[in-house]
Amino acid sequence: MKSEQSVVSAIQSATGEPFSIQRQQSISSGCINAAFEISDSRRHFFVKTNRPSSRPMFEAEREGLLALASEGGPRVPVPVVVGADDHSAFFVMEYVAFATPGPHTATLFGEQLAALHSKHQSQFGWHRDNTIGSTRQVNDFTSDWVSFLREQRFGYQFGLAARQGYGGELQDLGERFLQQLDGFFSDYQPWPSILHGDLWGGNHAADGQGYPVMFDPAVYYGDREADIAMTELFGRCDGAFYAAYDSVLPLDAGYRQRRTLYNLYHVLNHLNLFGGGYHAQALQMLRELVSEV
Ligand code: ADP
Repeated sequence: MKSEQSVVSAIQSATGEPFSIQRQQSISSGCINAAFEISDSRRHFFVKTNRPSSRPMFEAEREGLLALASEGGPRVPVPVVVGADDHSAFFVMEYVAFATPGPHTATLFGEQLAALHSKHQSQFGWHRDNTIGSTRQVNDFTSDWVSFLREQRFGYQFGLAARQGYGGELQDLGERFLQQLDGFFSDYQPWPSILHGDLWGGNHAADGQGYPVMFDPAVYYGDREADIAMTELFGRCDGAFYAAYDSVLPLDAGYRQRRTLYNLYHVLNHLNLFGGGYHAQALQMLRELVSEV
């Protein structure tokens, strides 16, 4: 791990206790950052590292985890410290030993996410920008959800796509879709719930007691349907999750139509990050959306 000494010093000053790395293991599944488990004989930490310029990304992730930690909500790792030196930026947090989900994990996750989504405030957005994958996610506060979506979510991603050379049909359909956006919300006004923001299957798991854990968020206040939609984009949660969520906080009848709309944001982001087959997927979703309203 790069910047080992800086990581150790930062842990010592953040926790007020001596720490030295006795064991270090690389964790390979992250898409964006290098990740490690480090431990002395007693304590385990999970550390992400990246270029020194990534420090604000890690600061935003740290604040996101703090914002998500709520009584009755799903477990999230406890942040320890963010820092940087000349070689890298790093984010140290509690290491969670993941395990096979238990018989109640999916139900608990549904109930706890609904409890979290019940927390709202008066405006959409967040007090700072953050990242979705490694793309900037703009979060200026506004009380108008449709204009938030139009400008800060879709408009931003369509702009990035245009700069990467995805013009033509993608931009034409995108323009039509944005003109029709109001129609998806004609009889549905969401409240601003705190969202995980990137809740695909790779960003939640179960701890050793079978309790759900979520991590790697892209937090903002938005329509809770966006979190549920993302659980259905790459695979799907267990049916017990959706039943439990619905029993606490029922989804609106129009959710199925808006699910494609919310997932389009992530598919556009994947197009901008990875290209390839996401172009055809984005076009397909746009065709479906513009023919619906
Ligand atoms: P990235 O920001 O690079 O996408 P993630 O936050 O998704 O990285 O973490 C990469 C992997 O590390 C996850 O898929 C998960 O398996 C594991 N992981 C994430 N957070 C923790 C944690 N607090 N404790 C233990 N393992 C973790």
